[in-house]
Amino acid sequence: MLLVDSHCHLDFPDFAEDLDGIVSRARAAGIGRMVTISTRVRKLDQLLAIAERFDDVYCSVGTHPHNADEEDGITPDELIALTQHPKVVALGEAGLDYFYDDGSPEAQARGFRAHIAAARTTGLPLVIHTREADEDCARILEEEAAKGSFRAVLHCYTGGRELALKAVSLGLYIGFTGILTFKKSDALRALAAELPSDRILVETDSPYLAPGKFRGKRNEPAYVVEVAKVLAETRGVSLDEISRQTSENFFRLFSKVKA
Ligand SMILES: [Zn+2]
Ligand SMILES: [Zn+2]
Repeated sequence: MLLVDSHCHLDFPDFAEDLDGIVSRARAAGIGRMVTISTRVRKLDQLLAIAERFDDVYCSVGTHPHNADEEDGITPDELIALTQHPKVVALGEAGLDYFYDDGSPEAQARGFRAHIAAARTTGLPLVIHTREADEDCARILEEEAAKGSFRAVLHCYTGGRELALKAVSLGLYIGFTGILTFKKSDALRALAAELPSDRILVETDSPYLAPGKFRGKRNEPAYVVEVAKVLAETRGVSLDEISRQTSENFFRLFSKVKA
């Protein structure tokens, strides 16, 4: 069984002492690829050091909406230049987060659009972070799609049904984390059951969001199996089938990653 963790943060201090252990536990659990996601363009070097050290680890480049003010004004051209590295396989994470007060909505929107422009030009997927911002996110996606198509995933999806279906209609993918395993996540599971099988991805967003069984502990890529198990159950298919579908989807979307 091959699974992929399409979204983790291996450069976070939580993992610093234990990176070899993290990666070997993921391999032992059948995780074939990991993408460690950028939250600050200015710290790409730290991510590249990790991606260069492990064959099966790739990375993205982008500004998390929480850091949008700090990195306000980064241009699509700057982002595009940084994607030339063979291990940089995606843009982001960028987008809108109105849950926390970090990052003004204006700077978040500017960053979001700059990342979309870079995704459009490079053909690389954009990893979109959207939280409590369904309406603005849907509006920006529609406006930007009208300018020309781009590829993207709404990662760690927690939004409403409407935004998810809009995204799917624009050709985008939806990523699920350990939140899918939480008791209170009935609406999210109903949505996960409904989406087309060629648009779903699994991820950990580790070190955050440990799935049910490990809740409250540090999360790590090996635990993406728990997300896949619940997604399989929710959709009424086997774990092998969900692994096959989500991995196929991953390699189709993250097409720069070696299969
Ligand atoms: Zn995120
Ligand atoms: Zn993340």
